[in-house]
Amino acid sequence: MNIIYKDHNITIFQSVLFQTNSTVVETEDVVLVVDPAWLPDEVMTIKHYVDSVKGGKELFLVFTHSDYDHIIGYKAFSPDKVFMSKAMEDNPNKEVVIEQALSFDEKFYINRPYPIEYPSADFTVFRDGVQFKHGQTKMTFYLTPGHTADSMMLVIWQIGLCIAGDYLCNVEFPFIYHSSIDYEETLEKLPSIHDKNWFTRLIPGHGDPALSIDDWLHRRTESLAYIYALRESISTGIPFDETSLWERYDYPRLQHKYHLDNLKLMTREFEEGLWKWDADLSVSVLNKPDEMQGDGDA
Ligand SMILES: [Zn+2]
Repeated sequence: MNIIYKDHNITIFQSVLFQTNSTVVETEDVVLVVDPAWLPDEVMTIKHYVDSVKGGKELFLVFTHSDYDHIIGYKAFSPDKVFMSKAMEDNPNKEVVIEQALSFDEKFYINRPYPIEYPSADFTVFRDGVQFKHGQTKMTFYLTPGHTADSMMLVIWQIGLCIAGDYLCNVEFPFIYHSSIDYEETLEKLPSIHDKNWFTRLIPGHGDPALSIDDWLHRRTESLAYIYALRESISTGIPFDETSLWERYDYPRLQHKYHLDNLKLMTREFEEGLWKWDADLSVSVLNKPDEMQGDGDA
């Protein structure tokens, strides 16, 4: 398993599968493990690393959302506290998530030295800005629905780090399983999360960490541009420019399916009239040539 980033406080382990990131943060007070993932050897590598650095510190486990790839390593650890969103604790589809994890393992004849279970929470996040302080370590949590209904992010103050779950991945356009409206709101919220907490670095669920404010702001713009372009295509009937999408993202054979799923979900949103504001906007976009012509004549 690759360590793709390391400094005094942060170690990012990256799985060979889907470039999934598992982050270990060490502060003076605590060792924090976020979304320990994928293959059994990889999870055990993370566990052995944590055992080697833990000393007398407490171990906190944080889950950014309930997708099965992000929770599959849960039972390899014996955390003092488990953090997740309230929506993740209340997920009505827990059994589906566990079934997906078990199917994955069976499909590849994978045995694990620990059971697969849905995480149970000690601390749940039910609104934005909830803080948890332990010694000098301060974490702030934000609800970030859109990718899934139960996504959340956390910011660790001292080290200027945001762990974002499956947002702002440089290897993925937005995968919208829940709602493009919520997804957009989550992206809109990021600058204010930044202003309230100050972070420079951001670790997404998959791909490379963004190591500067410019980097994650750029990814945010790309994500919003994807959503707006897809909305415009759906509302005007003008085909979406997939060629440009696959110039930007490297895995079309897999990701085409995610794009089509987004198209399906967002078409349903459009038909249900859920993007009122954007529908108005696209009408004004459609009307614009006339207006411009009018201005030109005047
Ligand atoms: Zn993921």
